[in-house]
Amino acid sequence: MSATPLFAAGELVSVDPATLREVGRVVATEPEAIGEIVAEARMAQERWAREPFEQRSRVLRGVARALLDAGEEIAETIVAETGKPIVEAYTSELFVCLDNLIWLASHLGRVLRPERVPMPQLHVRHKSASLRYEPAGVIGIISAWNFPLGVPLTQAATAVAAGNAAVVKPSELTPLTGAWVEELFRRAGAPAGLVRIVQGPGETAGDAIVRQRGIHRVVFTGSSDAGRAVARRAAERLCPVTLELGGKDPMLVLDDADLERAVEGALWASFSNCGQVCSGVERIYVDASLYEPFVARLGERARALRIGRGSDPRTDLGPLVTEMQRARVEELVADAVERGAAVVSGGGRPPLGLPGWFLEPTVLAEVPADARVHAEEIFGPVVIVASMENESDGIRRANASRFGLGASVWTRDRQRGRRVAEQLEAGSVWMNDHAYSYGACQAPWGGRKESGYGRTHSKHGLYEMSQVKYTDADRGRLTPPWWYPYSEEVVDGFRGALGALYGDGVRGRAAALVAHRHGLVALGRRALRR
Ligand code: NAD
Repeated sequence: MSATPLFAAGELVSVDPATLREVGRVVATEPEAIGEIVAEARMAQERWAREPFEQRSRVLRGVARALLDAGEEIAETIVAETGKPIVEAYTSELFVCLDNLIWLASHLGRVLRPERVPMPQLHVRHKSASLRYEPAGVIGIISAWNFPLGVPLTQAATAVAAGNAAVVKPSELTPLTGAWVEELFRRAGAPAGLVRIVQGPGETAGDAIVRQRGIHRVVFTGSSDAGRAVARRAAERLCPVTLELGGKDPMLVLDDADLERAVEGALWASFSNCGQVCSGVERIYVDASLYEPFVARLGERARALRIGRGSDPRTDLGPLVTEMQRARVEELVADAVERGAAVVSGGGRPPLGLPGWFLEPTVLAEVPADARVHAEEIFGPVVIVASMENESDGIRRANASRFGLGASVWTRDRQRGRRVAEQLEAGSVWMNDHAYSYGACQAPWGGRKESGYGRTHSKHGLYEMSQVKYTDADRGRLTPPWWYPYSEEVVDGFRGALGALYGDGVRGRAAALVAHRHGLVALGRRALRR
């Protein structure tokens, strides 16, 4: 989905999408150099894996401190590279990162410490078993531009917390923000090489990361098409992949919803980050009894949003990130309108006197079923609203999508909300709110269907970047009765054992014991044989 970046003599040129002025440039990493970067990361990781959990926590707290210290400068860079409102640089980037770093630092020891596995079965009761969560090695992190700090930094922090190194490729559209990921770990005193940045386009630098044998897992955040290409490439060497892909989140407004709250929630969830949010609301299904006032009020509120440069604290909506992205969103709107959709608000370019890629927040209603906006990820400031007959009609329509990232249900009845949530096909379902849990890092993040697989954040994110190893301790005093030699007596013994251990009721078990007593005694003798 990202546009071809601007290249100038081996450099990536970062452009402000509001003013189209250059923000800065970074040297693109030669794909041939990536092997060496990965090898250095592996060396650093082997030492890092032996550090106690306290040391991992100390470094993560150090990253949090460095982030707080440089927060303003980083927020300004994010705004310049993405055009997003400064408020959102704080809420969905810095806030998310700090919450994640502190959560990891506080909980990694509890989540990753060895876990006892109970062995109650008669034949293994003497074993003392446990699970160990060992680091995977070097994690390759490939990121999108829409949360250029929030996504790669929280993923790198999770990798490091689990004892890994991270080689991070930020989006080619946001290289300056991406560079901060390595810099923050450096300022926190992390071992040299443990977190490295690779700069460059996806097809070269990103692909080189996926192909590196020294990369033990790829965590990819981006469009479903690119995710598919990455998964295919990784499959060639059976490298595991976590995919955080596109979405088309539905919002269900039930007949007992608080109308005003639902409108305000829809407004934010559809238009924050100019709609360029994987879990942005793109489809709203409103109970028929509330439909008309909802649509009227949403249109009115959308028209009142302030569009402009993200650096102005009063700006609600910045530009889209590239010209190509705006053209795609306009094409989707035009397609819907041509087929008969009603434009409730927006639909055009705002007269701002700025050269950037701005588009008005757009509410579409009465959108015919064959319009592309129903099926494709819009990833822009456009939302479609439709009337639903009842709860089950809403659930059916919400689930009729190839995406399954997030969803929300709006109701005053918590029981009812939970019941609807259980039936929605999504990685997260929120009630009377949307997507906030990305910033509450004990909550896992990830999707279903073409929104990807695997999880980041929370203990599940830590496990995802670990290798689970089963180990046990056995003094070696009992001989497993299933070892050689085999005989008729052994067969009889195991027939009895199956019935005695897993048979129905006391009677059934006792009958198995009696019927196969000779074989069972023989098995017992074998177990005690030295
Ligand atoms: P994109 O797929 O164009 O690029 C994402 C990253 O992948 C970039 O760093 C790019 O350079 C790299 N890349 C592209 N092709 C590659 C290839 N063949 N091999 C290796 N790397 C490759 O996406 P984008 O435009 O940057 O981001 C928008 C998309 O990301 C949207 O679909 C959005 O929904 C999704 N997204 C998902 C989440 C989530 O958590 N599920 C979060 C943010 C964004």
